[in-house]
This record gives sequence, C-alpha cells and structure tokens, in this order.
Amino acid sequence: MYLRHAVATLLAAGISIDATAAASQDVKVQLASSIDAKRSSYTAISDQIWSFAELGYQEHKSSALLQRELANAGFSVQAAVAGIPTAFVATYGSGKPVIGVLAEFDALPGLSQGAVPERRPLVEHAPGHACGHHLFGTATVAAAIAVKEWMARTRQPGTIRVYGTPAEEGGGGKIYMVRAGLFDGVDVALDWHPGSENDAGPGTSLANKSGKFRFRGISAHAAGSPWNGRSALDGVEAMNHMVNLMREHVPDGTRIHYVITSGGGAPNVVPDFAEVYYYLRHKDAKVVLELWERIQAAADGAAMGTGTKVELEVINGVYALLPNETLARAVDANLRRVGGITYTPAERAFAEKIGPTLTGGARDPSEAERVKPFAQSDAGGSTDVGDVSWVVPNSGFSTATWVPGTPAHSWQAVAAGGMSIGHKGMVNAAKTMAMTVYDLLTTPSLVTAARAEFERRRGAGFVYRPLIGERKPPLDYRVNPK
Ligand SMILES: [Zn+2]
Ligand SMILES: [Zn+2]
Repeated sequence: MYLRHAVATLLAAGISIDATAAASQDVKVQLASSIDAKRSSYTAISDQIWSFAELGYQEHKSSALLQRELANAGFSVQAAVAGIPTAFVATYGSGKPVIGVLAEFDALPGLSQGAVPERRPLVEHAPGHACGHHLFGTATVAAAIAVKEWMARTRQPGTIRVYGTPAEEGGGGKIYMVRAGLFDGVDVALDWHPGSENDAGPGTSLANKSGKFRFRGISAHAAGSPWNGRSALDGVEAMNHMVNLMREHVPDGTRIHYVITSGGGAPNVVPDFAEVYYYLRHKDAKVVLELWERIQAAADGAAMGTGTKVELEVINGVYALLPNETLARAVDANLRRVGGITYTPAERAFAEKIGPTLTGGARDPSEAERVKPFAQSDAGGSTDVGDVSWVVPNSGFSTATWVPGTPAHSWQAVAAGGMSIGHKGMVNAAKTMAMTVYDLLTTPSLVTAARAEFERRRGAGFVYRPLIGERKPPLDYRVNPK
C-alpha cells in the first residue's frame, strides 16, 4: 500500500529519492503505521515502567529500559547527564533543525494501585504511576524511533534528540538539564502529558519555588526542666503563623502550602529538630522570588523569637509554562488527524465503574473520542517543562489515557494507565508527536514562526536564571527528612 519497499529499493541502489516521489507518499500515514507495528512492544515497555514505579531520581530501571530501546534503534545515548544518574540525552541525525522531545518516567509515593476499576493497592503505601509518566516516556521514545526510521530511509537532514528527564514530580530534573546547557542549539522542544482529555491548546502553569526549613533547638525534659530547652517545633509553628498572616498581603493568585515533615518524636521531650516543607506558587516567577524572600524573613524572625536556629534547603524552583500558539496549532492539527479514543465494550465497562468513584462525579466516557476545541488553558499546577519553555520554543498536548474526569495523582489514573485505555492514549500521543516532529523537520517556516513568537513572548533582554540558584540536583529528595 505504501511506497516503503520502492523507496528502500531506490536507496539500496544508491539512487536518491526525488522530491515529487517523496511528497507523493503520505509520510504521516507511514509514521502512524510504524508505531502501530510496534504497539505490543511499546505496551510491554510502558507496563514494565508502570510496574517499576520508581520515584524521582531513583528511576534506574525505567531510564535504562528507555535508553536501551533508543540505543537498539540507532540513537547515540549520553547517560547520566547534568550530574543526574538517571538523566539522558539520545541523539539521531545531524545538522539543523534540532528538534527535542521530552520523556518523563518518575512515579509518585503512596499511590500503588492495580489496573482495576476499584481502589486496590498492589503493595500498601508503595509508589504508583499516578501522573502517567510511564506512558509519557514510552510514547516519546516511540515517536522518536518512528521519526528516526523515516529520516534514515529518506536521508532527511536534521537532528532529533530525546531528553530523558527524571524527577518531574518535585525534583526538577529538567531545570538541571537546562542549567547544564543541554538545550543549547535546540530549535523546538515538544512534550505531551497523559490526561483525561485530548487537548493541544496552548497552556500555562504556575511558577513554583519550594524548600525545606530546618529548625534546630535544644532538647530538654519537657516537664523536669523545660526552661533549659528551646523547641525547634516552636520555630516551625511561629514561622507558619507569620506566613499564614502574610496570605492577606500577597498578590492575587498566590498559592502557599506546607507540610510539617518532622515535628519531634515525643511530647515529653522538647524537640531539638523540626522541619517544614514549603511550596510557593504564582504565575509570575518574579512574584515568586519576591515572596520567597518574605517567607525566608518569617523563618529568620521565628528562629530569633524562639531561640532556635534555622537553615533553608531550596528543593525546587520552576518557571511557568511559556505558551507558543504557533506550535500548539501545528500539534493540534496532528492530534485531530490522529483523533480520540474509542472504547471496546470492556473498556467502556471499566470507565463506567471508574466514573462514580471520581470526586467530580462520572463524565460521559465517550468524551474520550473527541478532541477538545483549540483554546488556551491555565493549569493550577507546576511543571519543570516551564524552564525548558523559557529557553526553547515549546508546546505540549494531552491524550485521554485516563477515563474522562480523572484527575492526575489519583489511583484512578494509575488504574487506567496500566491497562488498554492508557495504552491507546499512549499510541495516539506517539503518533501526534511523530507527525509534528516531521512537520518541524520539513517546514523551516514553521520553526522560524515558532521562534519569532517565542522571542516576542519572552521579551527583549530576557536572561534565564534558574529559580533554584546554584544548588545541585536533590538526588535524595524522596528520602525521609534528615
Ligand atoms: Zn504529576
Ligand atoms: Zn506529570
């Protein structure tokens, strides 16, 4: 049906394909069918990563599996980049344009769940893929391999680069990769994310800075000689009180949240150590930096008032997503071509069981069949793709890998991501991404227009400064408090 054999014969004979012949074949159909041909292998890879369910910076098996797949397909793989053992960059081709595609693979703590439509952890309190990053990483690798095969066959100039980006969930793997200059010279970087809708509209997110404030005091018998003690927990509570008063006097749209990760061990011992873990978000990274200084001042004041000492470890800091409508429209056209997801009767039954368990109530499962109208959306969350989007023109999209209405970070997301609904969404994402990379490699005007929009939105004189400052990757951030 396709001209693949004829093309291969011409290549074998050393005859270059003439432009008309190349244009006459539908490359996008070829890309889709080459992904379909390997569907069972990609499903097996995503299922393995789903079972590994490795937390941020500990994704050794997941990262190795994706690297091996890329190396076997002919990519040259640079492992352990940016000082992160599980980060990698896999490259194929040479010259311009350079198109980057992002692959995530970390899981979330405490969300272990079977691929069944009722709450049933596989292992109590163990991690689970509640953000679908097993599908994210696998689909990106599948897209890159399909594009690589077409490039090899047609001697298409240009470069495709897969970024294996660890610890998206709070560890900020991409920030360190951006800071290390690994995105220098990249023309466009595409990503996608599992979701409960098919949507390629341009999106924004919130900039976010986070850190752990560690208070140290003096322990003493809480009844026998409390006057000798200085409670580290008092430091934490005084700080939290001041920050809670601050909420009235911050710009609209600010989000501040904390958890006390250590507050002493027994009421009859004055705690000499306490730790509170803060997140601070706003759509403007500048506001985040200003408010962060006020939170630090509250911590210093709390320490002074309670006779304790405080030190801060910045854990993460990400920019808001910088949207790019030019790229989003290109992705949207391909997502519409690929289409939504049609359930089998068994998948529909699964969706109908999941529906009533969702906090927002059941939605019509056939929403998964549709692609959302093209529109800008503003998410309340944060992602380290934000940092990439300020150094390289970027756009992302989602496919319905989860039952309509399923939020990220839920057991329902883990469940659908481990069965055929998740697999179908992953394959659609791989096809959409492959087709868009093809457009970018063959349409220089698209790359130029995306760059122009990027420059305009970023503003003249913008210099990227990571919100994390000089800190090293927090490779142990998923390990319990010190
Ligand atoms: Zn997430
Ligand atoms: Zn995610």
